[in-house]
Amino acid sequence: MTVLIYWFRNDLRLNDNPALMEACLQADYLVPVYIHPPQAQLTHAPGFPRESRHRQTFLRESLDDLKGQLRGLGSDLLEYAGEPADVLVQLTQITGADAIYCEQIEAPEEIHQCQQIQDLGIELKEFWQSSMLGLENLPFPVQDMPDMFTQFRKEIERAGLKFAAPLLAPLQIPPLPEFSEVLPRVIDGEVAPSAAIFAGGEMSALAHLKQYLERRLPDSYKETRNQLIGKDYSSKFSPGLALGCISARTIAAELAEYEACYGANDGTYWLWFELLWRDYFRFLHFKYGNQLYRARGLSKAPIEYSDPQQFERWRTGNTGERLIDAGMRELLNTGYLSNRMRQIVASYWIYDLRGDWRLGAAWFESQLIDYDVYSNQGNWLYIAGRGTDPRGGRPFNVAKQTQDHDAQGAYRKLWLVTN
Ligand SMILES: Cc1cc2nc3c(=O)[nH]c(=O)nc-3n(C[C@H](O)[C@H](O)[C@H](O)COP(=O)(O)OP(=O)(O)OC[C@H]3O[C@@H](n4cnc5c(N)ncnc54)[C@H](O)[C@@H]3O)c2cc1C
Repeated sequence: MTVLIYWFRNDLRLNDNPALMEACLQADYLVPVYIHPPQAQLTHAPGFPRESRHRQTFLRESLDDLKGQLRGLGSDLLEYAGEPADVLVQLTQITGADAIYCEQIEAPEEIHQCQQIQDLGIELKEFWQSSMLGLENLPFPVQDMPDMFTQFRKEIERAGLKFAAPLLAPLQIPPLPEFSEVLPRVIDGEVAPSAAIFAGGEMSALAHLKQYLERRLPDSYKETRNQLIGKDYSSKFSPGLALGCISARTIAAELAEYEACYGANDGTYWLWFELLWRDYFRFLHFKYGNQLYRARGLSKAPIEYSDPQQFERWRTGNTGERLIDAGMRELLNTGYLSNRMRQIVASYWIYDLRGDWRLGAAWFESQLIDYDVYSNQGNWLYIAGRGTDPRGGRPFNVAKQTQDHDAQGAYRKLWLVTN
């Protein structure tokens, strides 16, 4: 009898989850688990939480959705808190599990977690499954991928590379084995309500995609994507993607069907193009790994000293620069910010306030309900000129951005008057 543990990480879904599918095929008994970080890791060094209440609520909703689906199939989702290695070694012992299956996350903290588990002699099988394009299909070894996005994209397009078809959800989940519940579980308690405008969970993510396509919003995406107000100017796929409530392949496959039905256009291409940016930042981690997490990133330029008071003013939206303050208040109040505003406030922190880009990235990690380690790190490095972009940094002129994107002041009014 094979007993497996399935460790859910940023893949909180049943559909198109190859690692879970494989675990279901191999196991006679399956123990689905989610592990919350230990208390000590919940605060960033400058003294703010790593997960704001918006993120906590979104996560809670996503876990509840997954738990409900698993229970509907006669299984469950067991939640624990602590270092994954500590929890999983104990769980392996008490359930008699033969191995642990999980998705691969190619970022330093997550790699370290897996290393610790393997060092304890536990068999751990990791599956790379968070990108739209498969690693094995790339027209180059990922370690030799082109540094520049444009070059990367051209080689992908030249090779006519397509994503693999997404998998359906498993029809059955192997039952839980009997074991003594000596390990304290996290009870799915209440979390503080959040004003975030998105609901977490696989069902919500799939429903959101469906309505986005039914309302033909891809057609206008290219024209509207730099707007600042409302729900429909961009796809808002990112929160569901970040926790893996939906896979990038599922979105890409639905987009391809949409194109087959209504015809391809600039909007559908541009959405695919943005999903490719997401893949690009993922694949860069295979090439550069820890170097992306150095203070100086891939550049040689020294880092800036951050004035704690400036940081406080920036993060709470009290710099006196109205567009920046509006953006930072939107982020604080909702856990979301448009791509354009992310670029502008990040640039302001780095180039106007001369702050350390890593502190800005840490604040985004704390607040964004779509926080994604690869995209956050990659975009901050890009704006700071410490990534692979040969242009060396992307400063944004606030006055020009205000004129281009909020000439009538509607966005500033929305966030400065009421907050
Ligand atoms: C400083 C900074 C930090 C960021 N941090 C994150 C983060 O933690 N998590 C995150 O998902 N995105 C991050 N982004 C990228 C981008 O802002 C968001 O993906 C996008 O705003 C999400 O909204 P949307 O789903 O409506 O995007 P859309 O414009 O509708 O794009 C569709 C999808 O393409 C992907 N995408 C779009 N733009 C980018 C991009 N620049 N980089 C990578 N993927 C992209 C996303 O998965 C997005 O859901 C960051 C950008 C900046 C400038």
